[in-house]
Amino acid sequence: MGRIAVRYLLGIWVLVASQWGFAEVTLIHAGTLINGSDKAPLTERTLVIEGNRIVAIEAGYRPGSGAEKVLDLRAHTVMPGLMDMHTHLSKEFGPQSYIEPFKLNEADYAINATVYARRTLLAGFTTVRDLGDNYNVTVALRNAIDKGKVIGPRVYTAAKSIATTGGHADPTNSYRRDLMGSPQPVDGVINGVAEAREAVRQRYKDGADLIKITATGGVLSVAKSGQNPQFMVDELKAIVDTARDYEMTVAVHAHGKEGMKRAIQAGVDSIEHGTYMDREIMRLMKKHDTYYVPTIIAGKWVEEKSRVDGFFPELVRPKAAAIGPLIQGTFAEAYRNGVKIAFGTDSGVSAHGDNAREFELMVEAGMPPMEAIQSATLHAARLLRIHDQLGTLAAGKVADIVAVKGDPLADISLLRRMAFVMKDGVIYNSVIDNSVVDNSVIDNNE
Ligand SMILES: [Zn+2]
Repeated sequence: MGRIAVRYLLGIWVLVASQWGFAEVTLIHAGTLINGSDKAPLTERTLVIEGNRIVAIEAGYRPGSGAEKVLDLRAHTVMPGLMDMHTHLSKEFGPQSYIEPFKLNEADYAINATVYARRTLLAGFTTVRDLGDNYNVTVALRNAIDKGKVIGPRVYTAAKSIATTGGHADPTNSYRRDLMGSPQPVDGVINGVAEAREAVRQRYKDGADLIKITATGGVLSVAKSGQNPQFMVDELKAIVDTARDYEMTVAVHAHGKEGMKRAIQAGVDSIEHGTYMDREIMRLMKKHDTYYVPTIIAGKWVEEKSRVDGFFPELVRPKAAAIGPLIQGTFAEAYRNGVKIAFGTDSGVSAHGDNAREFELMVEAGMPPMEAIQSATLHAARLLRIHDQLGTLAAGKVADIVAVKGDPLADISLLRRMAFVMKDGVIYNSVIDNSVVDNSVIDNNE
Protein backbone atom coordinates (compact mmCIF):
# COMPACT_ATOMS: atom_id res chain seq x y z
CA MET A 1 0.00 0.00 0.00
CA GLY A 2 1.37 3.44 -0.92
CA ARG A 3 2.23 6.01 1.72
CA ILE A 4 -0.58 8.28 0.66
CA ALA A 5 -3.08 5.46 1.07
CA VAL A 6 -1.66 4.63 4.49
CA ARG A 7 -1.95 8.24 5.54
CA TYR A 8 -5.49 8.39 4.18
CA LEU A 9 -6.56 5.32 6.15
CA LEU A 10 -4.72 6.59 9.22
CA GLY A 11 -6.53 9.90 8.83
CA ILE A 12 -9.89 8.09 8.70
CA TRP A 13 -8.96 6.07 11.78
CA VAL A 14 -7.98 9.23 13.70
CA LEU A 15 -11.23 10.85 12.62
CA VAL A 16 -13.30 7.81 13.67
CA ALA A 17 -11.34 7.44 16.90
CA SER A 18 -11.82 11.08 17.79
CA GLN A 19 -15.56 10.83 17.03
CA TRP A 20 -15.80 7.93 19.44
CA GLY A 21 -13.69 9.64 22.04
CA PHE A 22 -10.55 7.50 21.65
CA ALA A 23 -7.29 9.29 21.15
CA GLU A 24 -4.56 7.60 19.13
CA VAL A 25 -1.99 5.96 21.41
CA THR A 26 1.70 6.19 20.55
CA LEU A 27 4.47 4.29 22.32
CA ILE A 28 7.93 5.80 22.15
CA HIS A 29 10.76 3.39 22.97
CA ALA A 30 13.46 5.69 24.34
CA GLY A 31 16.99 4.26 24.61
CA THR A 32 17.94 7.22 26.79
CA LEU A 33 15.52 9.63 28.41
CA ILE A 34 16.41 13.09 29.68
CA ASN A 35 13.19 14.08 31.39
CA GLY A 36 14.14 17.68 32.21
CA SER A 37 13.79 17.32 35.96
CA ASP A 38 16.26 14.54 36.94
CA LYS A 39 19.97 15.32 37.10
CA ALA A 40 20.91 12.00 35.42
CA PRO A 41 19.44 10.42 32.29
CA LEU A 42 17.25 7.29 32.45
CA THR A 43 17.59 4.34 30.10
CA GLU A 44 15.15 2.02 28.32
CA ARG A 45 11.85 3.75 28.90
CA THR A 46 8.50 3.67 27.13
CA LEU A 47 6.62 6.93 26.83
CA VAL A 48 2.90 6.41 26.36
CA ILE A 49 1.27 9.26 24.45
CA GLU A 50 -2.48 9.64 24.15
CA GLY A 51 -3.69 12.58 22.09
CA ASN A 52 -1.52 15.51 23.11
CA ARG A 53 -0.61 14.14 26.56
CA ILE A 54 1.98 11.86 28.06
CA VAL A 55 -0.13 9.42 30.07
CA ALA A 56 2.69 7.24 31.42
CA ILE A 57 6.44 6.68 31.36
CA GLU A 58 7.26 3.03 32.00
CA ALA A 59 10.53 1.20 32.65
CA GLY A 60 11.51 -1.13 29.79
CA TYR A 61 10.10 -1.32 26.27
CA ARG A 62 6.38 -2.07 26.31
CA PRO A 63 5.56 -4.04 23.15
CA GLY A 64 2.77 -2.64 21.01
CA SER A 65 -0.48 -4.63 20.97
CA GLY A 66 -1.15 -3.67 17.36
CA ALA A 67 -3.52 -0.83 18.19
CA GLU A 68 -0.74 1.60 19.08
CA LYS A 69 1.80 3.34 16.91
CA VAL A 70 5.27 2.28 18.12
CA LEU A 71 8.26 4.56 17.53
CA ASP A 72 11.67 2.98 17.85
CA LEU A 73 13.99 5.57 19.40
CA ARG A 74 16.19 3.00 21.17
CA ALA A 75 19.32 4.46 19.57
CA HIS A 76 18.26 7.97 20.52
CA THR A 77 18.15 10.35 23.45
CA VAL A 78 14.61 11.58 24.05
CA MET A 79 14.09 14.99 25.67
CA PRO A 80 11.38 17.56 26.34
CA GLY A 81 10.74 19.93 23.42
CA LEU A 82 13.38 22.66 23.53
CA MET A 83 12.43 26.23 24.36
CA ASP A 84 14.14 29.41 23.16
CA MET A 85 13.38 32.44 25.33
CA HIS A 86 14.63 35.03 22.87
CA THR A 87 13.70 34.93 19.21
CA HIS A 88 12.52 37.43 16.58
CA LEU A 89 10.47 35.31 14.20
CA SER A 90 9.43 38.15 11.89
CA LYS A 91 12.93 38.87 10.62
CA GLU A 92 16.41 37.57 10.05
CA PHE A 93 19.48 39.75 9.81
CA GLY A 94 21.32 40.12 6.53
CA PRO A 95 23.23 42.74 4.57
CA GLN A 96 19.92 44.29 3.45
CA SER A 97 18.46 44.65 6.93
CA TYR A 98 18.88 48.39 7.33
CA ILE A 99 16.92 49.22 4.16
CA GLU A 100 14.26 46.53 4.64
CA PRO A 101 11.89 48.87 6.52
CA PHE A 102 11.68 50.92 3.32
CA LYS A 103 11.15 47.93 1.04
CA LEU A 104 9.08 45.36 2.90
CA ASN A 105 5.35 45.48 3.56
CA GLU A 106 3.56 44.01 6.56
CA ALA A 107 2.64 40.97 4.49
CA ASP A 108 6.31 40.29 3.71
CA TYR A 109 7.17 40.17 7.41
CA ALA A 110 4.19 37.92 8.08
CA ILE A 111 5.03 35.45 5.32
CA ASN A 112 8.71 35.35 6.27
CA ALA A 113 7.69 34.67 9.87
CA THR A 114 5.84 31.51 8.81
CA VAL A 115 9.04 30.20 7.20
CA TYR A 116 11.23 31.04 10.19
CA ALA A 117 8.68 29.50 12.54
CA ARG A 118 8.72 26.21 10.64
CA ARG A 119 12.50 26.14 10.61
CA THR A 120 12.59 26.78 14.36
CA LEU A 121 10.18 23.94 15.13
CA LEU A 122 12.06 21.48 12.93
CA ALA A 123 15.26 22.38 14.82
CA GLY A 124 13.57 20.93 17.91
CA PHE A 125 12.29 24.14 19.48
CA THR A 126 8.65 23.48 20.27
CA THR A 127 8.17 26.68 22.32
CA VAL A 128 9.63 30.16 21.89
CA ARG A 129 9.28 33.65 23.26
CA ASP A 130 9.25 36.29 20.55
CA LEU A 131 10.86 39.41 21.99
CA GLY A 132 10.02 42.09 19.47
CA ASP A 133 8.41 41.88 16.05
CA ASN A 134 7.19 44.09 13.24
CA TYR A 135 3.54 45.08 12.84
CA ASN A 136 2.45 42.58 15.55
CA VAL A 137 2.83 39.78 13.00
CA THR A 138 3.83 37.25 15.65
CA VAL A 139 0.44 37.67 17.33
CA ALA A 140 -1.20 36.50 14.10
CA LEU A 141 1.53 33.88 13.67
CA ARG A 142 0.90 32.49 17.16
CA ASN A 143 -2.83 32.28 16.48
CA ALA A 144 -2.35 30.59 13.10
CA ILE A 145 0.06 28.04 14.63
CA ASP A 146 -2.35 27.34 17.48
CA LYS A 147 -5.11 26.67 14.93
CA GLY A 148 -2.85 24.35 12.92
CA LYS A 149 -2.84 26.58 9.84
CA VAL A 150 0.90 27.23 10.02
CA ILE A 151 3.68 24.91 11.21
CA GLY A 152 5.74 26.38 14.01
CA PRO A 153 6.55 26.37 17.70
CA ARG A 154 4.19 27.42 20.46
CA VAL A 155 4.76 31.18 20.54
CA TYR A 156 4.64 33.55 23.50
CA THR A 157 5.04 36.99 22.03
CA ALA A 158 5.81 40.47 23.30
CA ALA A 159 4.71 41.86 19.89
CA LYS A 160 6.40 45.25 19.31
CA SER A 161 8.99 45.90 22.02
CA ILE A 162 8.92 49.13 24.04
CA ALA A 163 11.68 51.78 24.06
CA THR A 164 12.03 55.46 24.98
CA THR A 165 12.59 58.16 22.31
CA GLY A 166 15.83 57.40 20.47
CA GLY A 167 16.19 54.19 22.49
CA HIS A 168 17.27 50.82 21.20
CA ALA A 169 13.82 49.74 19.93
CA ASP A 170 12.68 53.17 18.68
CA PRO A 171 11.74 52.11 15.13
CA THR A 172 12.82 55.37 13.44
CA ASN A 173 16.33 55.90 14.79
CA SER A 174 18.64 57.58 12.27
CA TYR A 175 15.86 58.18 9.71
CA ARG A 176 15.50 61.45 7.82
CA ARG A 177 13.45 63.95 9.84
CA ASP A 178 10.20 63.63 7.83
CA LEU A 179 10.38 59.83 7.98
CA MET A 180 11.39 59.85 11.63
CA GLY A 181 8.14 61.42 12.81
CA SER A 182 7.30 61.01 16.47
CA PRO A 183 6.54 57.39 17.33
CA GLN A 184 4.01 56.92 20.14
CA PRO A 185 3.20 54.26 22.77
CA VAL A 186 1.21 52.35 20.15
CA ASP A 187 4.44 52.14 18.10
CA GLY A 188 6.43 51.05 21.15
CA VAL A 189 7.94 54.40 22.18
CA ILE A 190 7.17 55.94 25.58
CA ASN A 191 8.28 58.83 27.74
CA GLY A 192 7.00 59.08 31.28
CA VAL A 193 4.77 57.01 33.50
CA ALA A 194 1.45 57.59 31.71
CA GLU A 195 2.84 56.50 28.35
CA ALA A 196 4.56 53.51 29.93
CA ARG A 197 1.18 52.32 31.22
CA GLU A 198 -0.47 53.09 27.89
CA ALA A 199 2.12 51.06 25.95
CA VAL A 200 1.64 48.00 28.16
CA ARG A 201 -2.14 48.23 27.92
CA GLN A 202 -1.89 48.67 24.15
CA ARG A 203 0.08 45.42 23.94
CA TYR A 204 -2.52 43.65 26.04
CA LYS A 205 -5.13 44.97 23.62
CA ASP A 206 -3.00 43.87 20.64
CA GLY A 207 -2.91 40.32 22.00
CA ALA A 208 0.68 40.17 23.29
CA ASP A 209 1.51 37.57 25.95
CA LEU A 210 4.30 39.47 27.68
CA ILE A 211 6.20 42.75 27.60
CA LYS A 212 9.67 43.42 26.20
CA ILE A 213 11.52 46.64 26.91
CA THR A 214 14.94 47.91 25.85
CA ALA A 215 16.35 49.28 29.12
CA THR A 216 19.75 50.20 27.68
CA GLY A 217 21.30 50.96 24.33
CA GLY A 218 21.91 48.03 22.00
CA VAL A 219 24.27 46.87 19.32
CA LEU A 220 22.20 46.85 16.14
CA SER A 221 20.28 50.13 16.51
CA VAL A 222 21.81 53.06 14.65
CA ALA A 223 22.60 55.07 17.78
CA LYS A 224 25.78 55.95 19.59
CA SER A 225 25.70 54.01 22.85
CA GLY A 226 25.29 50.27 23.20
CA GLN A 227 24.86 50.39 26.95
CA ASN A 228 23.48 53.68 28.32
CA PRO A 229 20.40 53.50 30.59
CA GLN A 230 17.28 54.46 28.61
CA PHE A 231 14.40 54.19 31.09
CA MET A 232 13.93 56.12 34.34
CA VAL A 233 13.11 54.25 37.52
CA ASP A 234 9.51 55.51 37.58
CA GLU A 235 8.99 54.40 33.97
CA LEU A 236 10.30 50.91 34.75
CA LYS A 237 8.11 50.66 37.81
CA ALA A 238 5.08 51.74 35.75
CA ILE A 239 5.86 49.09 33.11
CA VAL A 240 6.19 46.30 35.68
CA ASP A 241 3.16 47.31 37.78
CA THR A 242 0.93 47.63 34.72
CA ALA A 243 2.18 44.34 33.24
CA ARG A 244 1.30 42.57 36.51
CA ASP A 245 -2.31 43.82 36.27
CA TYR A 246 -2.58 41.83 33.03
CA GLU A 247 -0.58 38.84 34.27
CA MET A 248 2.21 39.62 31.84
CA THR A 249 5.91 39.10 32.54
CA VAL A 250 8.57 41.64 31.54
CA ALA A 251 11.69 40.75 29.54
CA VAL A 252 14.46 43.33 29.46
CA HIS A 253 17.11 43.91 26.84
CA ALA A 254 20.14 45.31 28.71
CA HIS A 255 23.89 45.55 28.18
CA GLY A 256 24.91 48.31 30.62
CA LYS A 257 25.04 47.95 34.38
CA GLU A 258 22.94 50.95 35.43
CA GLY A 259 20.00 50.02 33.18
CA MET A 260 20.11 46.44 34.45
CA LYS A 261 20.21 47.55 38.06
CA ARG A 262 17.17 49.80 37.69
CA ALA A 263 15.20 47.11 35.85
CA ILE A 264 15.99 44.33 38.33
CA GLN A 265 15.02 46.55 41.25
CA ALA A 266 11.77 47.41 39.47
CA GLY A 267 10.95 43.67 39.51
CA VAL A 268 11.35 42.52 35.90
CA ASP A 269 11.42 38.79 35.11
CA SER A 270 14.44 38.37 32.83
CA ILE A 271 17.56 40.21 31.71
CA GLU A 272 18.51 39.53 28.08
CA HIS A 273 22.19 39.70 26.97
CA GLY A 274 23.39 41.25 30.28
CA THR A 275 26.82 42.01 28.86
CA TYR A 276 28.29 44.31 31.51
CA MET A 277 26.74 42.48 34.45
CA ASP A 278 29.11 42.38 37.44
CA ARG A 279 29.05 40.68 40.85
CA GLU A 280 26.76 43.35 42.30
CA ILE A 281 24.22 42.79 39.52
CA MET A 282 24.48 39.00 39.91
CA ARG A 283 23.75 39.31 43.64
CA LEU A 284 20.81 41.57 42.84
CA MET A 285 19.44 39.07 40.31
CA LYS A 286 19.61 36.27 42.84
CA LYS A 287 17.91 38.42 45.46
CA HIS A 288 15.08 39.38 43.08
CA ASP A 289 14.83 35.92 41.47
CA THR A 290 15.55 37.38 38.02
CA TYR A 291 16.37 35.05 35.13
CA TYR A 292 19.36 35.63 32.86
CA VAL A 293 18.87 34.86 29.13
CA PRO A 294 22.39 35.07 27.71
CA THR A 295 22.12 34.97 23.85
CA ILE A 296 25.83 34.14 23.43
CA ILE A 297 25.33 33.21 19.78
CA ALA A 298 24.09 36.74 18.99
CA GLY A 299 27.30 38.15 20.52
CA LYS A 300 29.42 35.82 18.40
CA TRP A 301 27.42 36.71 15.31
CA VAL A 302 27.74 40.50 15.64
CA GLU A 303 31.44 40.17 16.47
CA GLU A 304 31.98 38.16 13.29
CA LYS A 305 29.98 40.58 11.11
CA SER A 306 31.77 43.62 12.61
CA ARG A 307 34.87 42.42 10.77
CA VAL A 308 33.09 42.55 7.39
CA ASP A 309 33.48 45.95 5.70
CA GLY A 310 30.14 47.59 4.97
CA PHE A 311 27.98 44.98 6.69
CA PHE A 312 26.96 47.32 9.51
CA PRO A 313 26.55 51.11 9.48
CA GLU A 314 29.71 52.74 10.89
CA LEU A 315 27.87 53.73 14.09
CA VAL A 316 27.01 50.08 14.77
CA ARG A 317 30.35 48.49 13.91
CA PRO A 318 32.40 49.49 17.01
CA LYS A 319 29.52 48.49 19.33
CA ALA A 320 29.33 45.05 17.70
CA ALA A 321 33.09 44.62 17.99
CA ALA A 322 33.14 45.67 21.67
CA ILE A 323 30.00 44.04 23.09
CA GLY A 324 29.78 40.88 20.97
CA PRO A 325 32.86 39.06 22.33
CA LEU A 326 31.99 39.75 26.00
CA ILE A 327 28.70 37.86 26.40
CA GLN A 328 30.16 34.35 26.64
CA GLY A 329 32.45 35.48 29.48
CA THR A 330 29.54 37.17 31.27
CA PHE A 331 27.56 33.97 30.95
CA ALA A 332 30.43 31.93 32.45
CA GLU A 333 30.63 34.28 35.45
CA ALA A 334 26.86 34.37 35.95
CA TYR A 335 26.70 30.57 35.86
CA ARG A 336 29.55 30.22 38.38
CA ASN A 337 27.83 32.73 40.65
CA GLY A 338 24.54 30.84 40.66
CA VAL A 339 22.36 33.20 38.62
CA LYS A 340 19.29 31.39 37.22
CA ILE A 341 19.76 30.87 33.49
CA ALA A 342 17.13 30.31 30.81
CA PHE A 343 18.18 29.44 27.26
CA GLY A 344 17.85 32.15 24.61
CA THR A 345 19.54 32.96 21.32
CA ASP A 346 18.20 36.22 19.84
CA SER A 347 17.61 34.20 16.64
CA GLY A 348 16.67 36.62 13.90
CA VAL A 349 20.08 38.17 14.58
CA SER A 350 21.74 34.78 13.89
CA ALA A 351 19.83 32.50 11.52
CA HIS A 352 16.58 30.85 12.58
CA GLY A 353 17.07 27.11 12.92
CA ASP A 354 20.63 27.48 14.23
CA ASN A 355 19.28 27.98 17.76
CA ALA A 356 20.92 24.84 19.17
CA ARG A 357 24.41 26.19 18.52
CA GLU A 358 23.88 28.18 21.72
CA PHE A 359 24.17 24.91 23.68
CA GLU A 360 27.72 24.43 22.41
CA LEU A 361 28.67 27.96 23.45
CA MET A 362 27.17 27.42 26.91
CA VAL A 363 29.02 24.13 27.41
CA GLU A 364 32.24 25.67 26.08
CA ALA A 365 31.88 28.35 28.79
CA GLY A 366 31.66 25.77 31.54
CA MET A 367 28.02 24.77 31.95
CA PRO A 368 27.53 20.98 32.11
CA PRO A 369 25.49 19.66 29.14
CA MET A 370 22.62 18.46 31.37
CA GLU A 371 22.22 21.92 32.88
CA ALA A 372 22.36 23.51 29.43
CA ILE A 373 19.50 21.22 28.34
CA GLN A 374 17.55 22.05 31.50
CA SER A 375 18.00 25.79 30.82
CA ALA A 376 16.05 25.17 27.60
CA THR A 377 13.40 22.93 29.17
CA LEU A 378 12.76 23.07 32.92
CA HIS A 379 14.01 26.63 33.46
CA ALA A 380 12.55 28.11 30.30
CA ALA A 381 9.17 26.65 31.27
CA ARG A 382 9.49 28.23 34.71
CA LEU A 383 10.29 31.62 33.19
CA LEU A 384 7.20 31.25 31.00
CA ARG A 385 5.18 30.05 34.01
CA ILE A 386 4.04 26.97 32.09
CA HIS A 387 6.11 24.41 34.03
CA ASP A 388 3.00 22.62 35.26
CA GLN A 389 2.33 21.66 31.60
CA LEU A 390 5.63 21.75 29.72
CA GLY A 391 9.41 21.67 30.10
CA THR A 392 9.64 18.20 31.63
CA LEU A 393 8.53 14.74 30.55
CA ALA A 394 6.19 13.06 33.04
CA ALA A 395 2.71 11.57 33.13
CA GLY A 396 0.13 14.32 32.65
CA LYS A 397 2.43 16.70 30.76
CA VAL A 398 1.85 17.96 27.24
CA ALA A 399 3.57 15.76 24.64
CA ASP A 400 6.30 18.09 23.36
CA ILE A 401 9.08 15.57 22.74
CA VAL A 402 12.29 15.69 20.71
CA ALA A 403 15.12 13.24 20.12
CA VAL A 404 18.62 13.09 18.69
CA LYS A 405 20.64 10.02 17.76
CA GLY A 406 23.44 9.28 20.23
CA ASP A 407 24.35 10.96 23.50
CA PRO A 408 24.14 14.77 23.62
CA LEU A 409 25.64 14.71 27.13
CA ALA A 410 28.85 13.39 25.55
CA ASP A 411 28.59 15.57 22.43
CA ILE A 412 26.32 18.58 22.87
CA SER A 413 26.59 19.47 19.17
CA LEU A 414 24.26 16.52 18.44
CA LEU A 415 21.41 18.86 19.43
CA ARG A 416 21.93 20.54 16.07
CA ARG A 417 20.89 17.33 14.31
CA MET A 418 17.33 16.84 15.47
CA ALA A 419 15.95 13.42 14.50
CA PHE A 420 12.47 13.60 15.96
CA VAL A 421 10.12 16.47 16.79
CA MET A 422 6.68 16.09 18.35
CA LYS A 423 4.67 19.10 19.46
CA ASP A 424 1.34 18.78 21.23
CA GLY A 425 1.26 15.08 20.32
CA VAL A 426 1.79 15.74 16.58
CA ILE A 427 4.95 14.51 14.83
CA TYR A 428 6.59 17.12 12.57
CA ASN A 429 9.90 15.46 11.90
CA SER A 430 10.76 11.81 12.33
CA VAL A 431 13.66 9.66 11.26
CA ILE A 432 11.48 6.64 11.93
CA ASP A 433 9.11 7.05 8.99
CA ASN A 434 10.93 9.87 7.19
CA SER A 435 7.95 12.17 7.72
CA VAL A 436 10.09 15.30 7.59
CA VAL A 437 8.16 18.44 6.87
CA ASP A 438 9.97 20.24 4.08
CA ASN A 439 12.31 22.86 5.53
CA SER A 440 12.48 25.64 3.00
CA VAL A 441 14.95 28.47 3.17
CA ILE A 442 14.74 32.22 2.66
CA ASP A 443 17.94 33.59 1.16
CA ASN A 444 19.00 36.71 3.05
CA ASN A 445 22.08 37.27 0.97
CA GLU A 446 20.21 38.10 -2.23
ZN1 LIG B 1 16.62 40.47 20.66
